[in-house]
Amino acid sequence: MNANFLTESQSDWLDVVNKFMDHEITVEYVRHCDSNREYPYEAYEKIAQQGWLGILIPEEEGGSGGDIFDYSLMAEGLGKFGFDFACSVLVPTFTAMNIIKYGTAEQKARYVKPFIDGQIRFSVSISEPDAGSDAANTKTRARRDANGDWVISGQKLWCSGAAADNTVIAMLVRTDPDDKHGGLSVLLIPNDTPGVVIRKLPTLSRHATGTTEIFLDEVRVPADALLGAEGEGWKVITEHLELERCAVAAAYVGNAQEAVNAANKYAHQRIQFGKPIYEFQVLKHMLAENQTRVDAARLLCYRAAALKAQGVAAARETSMAKLYGSEALKQCALDGMQILGGYANLPEADMERYLRESVQSTIGGGTSQIQRTIIAKSMRLSSAS
Ligand SMILES: Cc1cc2nc3c(=O)[nH]c(=O)nc-3n(C[C@H](O)[C@H](O)[C@H](O)COP(=O)(O)OP(=O)(O)OC[C@H]3O[C@@H](n4cnc5c(N)ncnc54)[C@H](O)[C@@H]3O)c2cc1C
Repeated sequence: MNANFLTESQSDWLDVVNKFMDHEITVEYVRHCDSNREYPYEAYEKIAQQGWLGILIPEEEGGSGGDIFDYSLMAEGLGKFGFDFACSVLVPTFTAMNIIKYGTAEQKARYVKPFIDGQIRFSVSISEPDAGSDAANTKTRARRDANGDWVISGQKLWCSGAAADNTVIAMLVRTDPDDKHGGLSVLLIPNDTPGVVIRKLPTLSRHATGTTEIFLDEVRVPADALLGAEGEGWKVITEHLELERCAVAAAYVGNAQEAVNAANKYAHQRIQFGKPIYEFQVLKHMLAENQTRVDAARLLCYRAAALKAQGVAAARETSMAKLYGSEALKQCALDGMQILGGYANLPEADMERYLRESVQSTIGGGTSQIQRTIIAKSMRLSSAS
């Protein structure tokens, strides 16, 4: 067991993913996709070829049957050059697990193998203009027509990856206007369905994955697009969010570690007043403080992943990992900007990308305030809002 409490095989697996990022993906490619707002199709294909898209999918369903700890380590490695890149792979992988868990045999036959092979992707569309932190305030309406097919109208917002080729969107919709939580369902909607209009948003972060708004005007999908039972959408999405938070927290750790490493390296190279700038104690302390933050975030992450891998309920621990990991990334990227000085502003320094991604990390997947509310509830502080 190493200093991060990883076994030899876990440590080797993290090493494999990190080396894959260094040599097969490269920081230059990640930077290019960010600068040009290009989806990383080539990298996604390479990852599919490794068989990593199916890491969490049981062997009997065609995947490699890894557990959530293995998955978190992969997320940590994929996150090293920025959360956005990791997001392009993680969003499809954690969304696919909803189909593994709730899909019918027919849905699994249609989607699972093409997904593992990299031929299709998944996005998750929960948010709307009036449904952010209050996600159950979903208004996009799905009604059944006389044949039992679904007719959907409304607007979704901030759906990451929905504009990428061959993406199936797991969309939270309202099937009963009179029941806030029990009136929600999830529909699987291919992004080329007639009537689905997807517009990329010019966001500060998430340039490569792309974040979108989606307009639906009497869009028709067949009855069997329903994932899980009608009215079960809130349950599907709540469980989805727990896995999502576990994955993204690990990617924040990978990115925060890279931000500290890059700042440390630069502090050794940059000479001012006749000495490397790391010799100024104020910078030494900044780096030491941030490495401590990264280690704490990593251990919170590993704890949440270890509990979930054992099938133990871990909503509180997952929220702690997500909260602390995102805030740690933001601080490490901000201090990284300070240590790299003016150079930090250039894309080739990578730090400005880490900073942009970190600003979103405390918002997406449930804001830091919402994570604190979940943690507070677990402390029986639920009357506090
Ligand atoms: C780049 C990007 C990518 C995204 N990707 C996706 C995606 O793929 N799929 C998807 O469905 N969504 C996605 N989102 C949406 C994201 O999940 C929401 O932005 C987030 O949940 C917050 O919702 P909101 O932006 O409406 O903020 P609001 O909910 O309006 O919150 C505004 C502020 O009020 C605070 N606040 C709100 N309610 C409370 C409360 N009860 N207690 C304390 N404070 C509170 C919030 O913490 C925040 O600081 C993405 C967003 C961005 C920016």
